[in-house]
Amino acid sequence: MFYRYKIPILLLIALAAFWTVSTLSPGLTLVSGVVIAIAAVLAYYFLPSQEKAQNPPHQKFDRPLAPHSVEEARKQFDTLTEKKCIPQSFALEFMVTENPRALDHYFPIVKMLTAPQVGSFYQLVRYIAEHPNFDIHLLGRNKVDITDQLPSAARYLVAGHLAEVFFFRRDLLTRFLHTPRHFYIYVTPEAFKEDAGVSGGDYNPTRESIQLVMSRLYEGFNGITPGPCPFLHELGHMLDHFDAGTGSMGRAEGLYPGLRKSDGKLFTPLAREAFIKGKRLERDRYLARFEGDSSQPMPIGHPYVFKNDGEFAAGYLEMFFRNPNYFAKQNPDLYAAYSELFGYDPRQIWKVDYPHYVEANRSFYSSGQKPPQPGLTIPQE
Ligand SMILES: [Zn+2]
Repeated sequence: MFYRYKIPILLLIALAAFWTVSTLSPGLTLVSGVVIAIAAVLAYYFLPSQEKAQNPPHQKFDRPLAPHSVEEARKQFDTLTEKKCIPQSFALEFMVTENPRALDHYFPIVKMLTAPQVGSFYQLVRYIAEHPNFDIHLLGRNKVDITDQLPSAARYLVAGHLAEVFFFRRDLLTRFLHTPRHFYIYVTPEAFKEDAGVSGGDYNPTRESIQLVMSRLYEGFNGITPGPCPFLHELGHMLDHFDAGTGSMGRAEGLYPGLRKSDGKLFTPLAREAFIKGKRLERDRYLARFEGDSSQPMPIGHPYVFKNDGEFAAGYLEMFFRNPNYFAKQNPDLYAAYSELFGYDPRQIWKVDYPHYVEANRSFYSSGQKPPQPGLTIPQE
């Protein structure tokens, strides 16, 4: 409010002062006019003219009280989610002990990090979890905001996924968190639907927010091999909408931050070059299948991700972190784009891929069914 009226107020003060001096001492009119004009110019330059670019903290983070036992933590989930979210014991243990290493199971990157790097990784998770622009909400039935009941194991899981993606690209993370980033977690599928959620998880461009049912945060972590990670898929959409050049959301061209020439210092030319080459190869392989030619290798992703550039960005981001071995073997250029962009190679973590992504996709293409028309574009060189 103050900033908006600053200039009119300054002008009024200057005019009032000028009028007072010229009425009381007409001989000093010229001198007073000059002095007041100089003072007004100095005030204009030295008083801040607009609010700081950094948005104010979106919400204050209050660390929830730790439950006394794993059983109590489990009851918290049961009550909140009508027993629809059953997290693994690692998450519950973390809530009780507040020892982040209990979360290792959710962040496979720790397998390839040195001990000091693991420490730095969990510092980063905490930094994100408590960052004022990490705007995470928990919604109950009828769109009621119950963020004060958000289990720390859910907050840390979301923050940890961001840390895992950006651990070697802090510059991208800093840019990403420069303004509030929104994450809406829902207690049940019903609560999700009541708030216009679609398909069990989505990125909502109007709200600039990921929307996800809480149980989906845990669904891919029941075994020792990688499983699905719907959050990473939705993060792919969110990153596609994020314009690192301007720091704003809304631009969706199927490119992650760092891949656009307009991204300034964050632009990663080698990654862009490899991405264009690799995406073209995927599209050509898909088109061959679409035209009934099965002489070429299969594309990696399911036909769903060839629907448009956004689904391609979301689907391949998740696959890079969940079936890196098959990905790298099928399309080394596209794989190199991701490892160049994010600064690491998840094959160091996983010796075995998430089998379903590989097998389901292969069995579709080998069935001879005609896949739907693709809707991909290839960025210009
Ligand atoms: Zn999607």
